[in-house]
Amino acid sequence: MKFDAPHFRDEKAARQYVEGLRWPSGRVCPKCGTVGGEYETKREGRYRCGSKGCRKDFTVTTGTVMESSHIRLTVWLVAFYMMASSKKGVSAHQLHRSLDLTYKSAWFLCHRIREAMKAGGMLAPMGGAGSIVEADETYYGRSDLPKREHRLESQRRKPSIRHAHKDQRPKRPVVALVERGGKARVFHVAVASKENVQRIVRENVDPASRLHTDESRLYFGMDAEFAAHETVKHSAGEYVRGDVHSNSAEGFFGVFKKGMRGVYQHCDEKHLHRYLSEFEFRFNSRTALGVNDAERTALAVKGAEGKRLTYRRTHSA
Ligand SMILES: [Zn+2]
Repeated sequence: MKFDAPHFRDEKAARQYVEGLRWPSGRVCPKCGTVGGEYETKREGRYRCGSKGCRKDFTVTTGTVMESSHIRLTVWLVAFYMMASSKKGVSAHQLHRSLDLTYKSAWFLCHRIREAMKAGGMLAPMGGAGSIVEADETYYGRSDLPKREHRLESQRRKPSIRHAHKDQRPKRPVVALVERGGKARVFHVAVASKENVQRIVRENVDPASRLHTDESRLYFGMDAEFAAHETVKHSAGEYVRGDVHSNSAEGFFGVFKKGMRGVYQHCDEKHLHRYLSEFEFRFNSRTALGVNDAERTALAVKGAEGKRLTYRRTHSA
């Protein structure tokens, strides 16, 4: 059984599991950074920093997305596991039902786990000599841009604003960069303009890489910036030419859209980046890269450190 491990059933085991992930070589005071200088307090799992002038009390959840949560650690770990191991994600409704949480708690918990899954820190450039990076864009849901602004944009004949009907809001553009056989970085942009898309490509991809895209005008003029810029002509029915294609990026979009439609159904544009982080996280720790469900869960739990997400921030950002 999936949830047989003690850390899914016993609070002490859960705490020890998270402590082991967070502090593999001694407990670290989250305030001053002192390692191993803490005392145990009367409350199990609560420590006091031994450093003079600090003396901060902390637990394993201090300074993580789990801080000041009333939800038990075992429940957190089950939720982490469910979100890390299901290909298309888990809805707040499902967590609400299966974990006996209020819907509101489940919803907030999902967003905090997404925050933990978000890639952080300095990211090295993607690709490099001999590597292929695919760039592609797609559209998901309707933008929050007002219709008027959308008309202005379309009057400017931006090739990237797609709309099924002139009275509908423009769709939300998503740009994906995928290293062939490797990892992805995914971005939600307000408008998929040539400037926005090319800036993302430029900021993330090593110039020694071969860049693969479709024939979209968004990538025009990038030839000189990479070892090669090779395109397939989707409009002419060409999807693969030798090793030139953008199938990895399209595969990512396929899983993302299936999950969003099937599991999440609705998401405000302001939250779209969080869902993208979640799908990106699972893609970048997928089974094909040698990561199993338990390891993927551990990666997400480790990612909880250094991130806070308040209810207010969840709603405003
Ligand atoms: Zn301290």
